[in-house]
Amino acid sequence: MELLDLHADILVIGGGLAGLSAALQARQAGCKVIVAAKGKIGRSGNTIMARNSIAAVLDNKGNKDSIARHIKDTMAGGDYLNDEKLVAVLAGEAPEAVNWLMQHRVPFLCEEGHVIVKGSPGHSAKRVLTVDGSALKSQKTPGLAITGPLTQEAKKQGIEMLENVLITSLLNKGGEIIGACGLDRRRERAFTINSRGVILACGGAGSLYPFTTNTADVTGDGYALASEAGAKLKDLEFIQFHPCVTIDSPRLVLSTAPFYDGAILTNNFGEQYMYQYSVQGNMATRDVMAQASFSEINAGRGTGRKAVFMDFGGVEPGFMASKYADIKDYLQGKLKVEVAPAAHFEMGGVVIDDHCNTTLPGLYACGEVAGGVHGANRLAANALTEAVVFGLRAGKHAAAEVLRHRSGKCDENQSVQLQCKKQQFSEFLPAHHESNAFRLITQELCRLMGRHVSVVRYKAGLQKALNEIEIMQERINQTEPHDYRQLLDYHQVKLMLLSGYLISQAALQREESKGAHYRADSIMNSEY
Ligand SMILES: Cc1cc2nc3c(=O)[nH]c(=O)nc-3n(C[C@H](O)[C@H](O)[C@H](O)COP(=O)(O)OP(=O)(O)OC[C@H]3O[C@@H](n4cnc5c(N)ncnc54)[C@H](O)[C@@H]3O)c2cc1C
Repeated sequence: MELLDLHADILVIGGGLAGLSAALQARQAGCKVIVAAKGKIGRSGNTIMARNSIAAVLDNKGNKDSIARHIKDTMAGGDYLNDEKLVAVLAGEAPEAVNWLMQHRVPFLCEEGHVIVKGSPGHSAKRVLTVDGSALKSQKTPGLAITGPLTQEAKKQGIEMLENVLITSLLNKGGEIIGACGLDRRRERAFTINSRGVILACGGAGSLYPFTTNTADVTGDGYALASEAGAKLKDLEFIQFHPCVTIDSPRLVLSTAPFYDGAILTNNFGEQYMYQYSVQGNMATRDVMAQASFSEINAGRGTGRKAVFMDFGGVEPGFMASKYADIKDYLQGKLKVEVAPAAHFEMGGVVIDDHCNTTLPGLYACGEVAGGVHGANRLAANALTEAVVFGLRAGKHAAAEVLRHRSGKCDENQSVQLQCKKQQFSEFLPAHHESNAFRLITQELCRLMGRHVSVVRYKAGLQKALNEIEIMQERINQTEPHDYRQLLDYHQVKLMLLSGYLISQAALQREESKGAHYRADSIMNSEY
């Protein structure tokens, strides 16, 4: 197997909005930067799937909004479990970050020369901007309107791109992070990337679940990499499940706005069930809707494909044509569509301070992989804001630290450690063997997460998930990879198992229901 030693001032793991923002900022400060991603930089991760809503308080047409209000709304949305310092950074630097995006040719929807700002649930004022993806060839990945211009700029600035690479571990020397190891996903090649600073920007964990809105590469690796290296994590039990995702492809994340115009949820028996779960009925919050639909499906009242119906029969046809034209197109003349709750966003993550320092020197984190900004639940449009605001912060701060301590080549001890890692990879020399043991374990893990660590959680189910993950961890450690493909699968499932374990453990430990975390066995639920 080919073994490569790479060197940079800063390694950024992740090629979405957070990673690109961090990389560009660090490069601008004069650092040699490598960005590594499982897929193509700017074309992998959840950013490309985003609906392009970004929250920021702009002084726009006499809007009565303020930074203080954005902070207040975000704290309330997170059930006050948010890190207030991080929320202040999010809201305070959002306008500057939007400006930065504009300077980098990210197009925003405008009217008469002004950026359009809209309202959104949980935001007490109009502060949601939309990146204009209308010029894109495909509307399936609107977020390319964000990542496209940033990727072009990164190439222009000479940022090195390590694409189709699975980062398998961080290099830890005496408690300090000094780089990472990885495997090429396309050809038989192992890397050690020696760097003075490592910025984790590897997104959330949606694809640990069988039904998700996330891209396949977003599997919680960042939580596992950080935890294995010794960094602290927090709030992993808080996962947002979107209640209305179509089960047929193309998978569509349906807006919940039609519920305010007469749409309803029904089960397989045509029963409107939301009033049994909330006095607000079909206008309940997205969490409550997800919990209700999940309960209906689990009780055997879902469709044969484990879904419920979103029924548009009560929405005025004129509204369907004007306000919900995309849904109308999707329905192709039908009045209802099968939907189910899908894993959407991880609120928790790696503990950071307001400079994106983790608890380990040399390791920084930003974007969805970091925890603390959203508390127990996230307001719509705050995730892209988080990715760009904290991406820029991480890049700037990591660069300043690295340049202060830059001393050129890695020292001898470090080289020895890199060599050890290489040997670890070299042990698995190609010898063809037909087995997909690791892939089967990945599927088992996703099923387990979907069953026991999903929208509605019980102590017994969470305990079962932990026990079974431990057994799977033992199984993979006893199964020797026989070829390069299996070696890759081994490292991928190892990260996923650890990440699944950490989420299950956090969900078991929090016995109360709070925000997006619903413990059906909590004695406090009557007040929930
Ligand atoms: C369908 C959908 C719609 C959304 N709409 C909105 C919206 O309108 N507004 C909003 O605010 N938020 C929205 N979100 C959430 C938002 O898109 C994400 O939270 C945000 O884009 C995350 O950005 P990121 O840079 O942190 O991670 P991502 O964009 O997910 O990037 C993660 C990167 O890390 C890489 N990676 C992961 N693991 C490894 C590894 N082991 N080795 C190497 N690379 C790795 C991936 O390949 C990828 O390049 C939406 C999410 C979805 C799924």
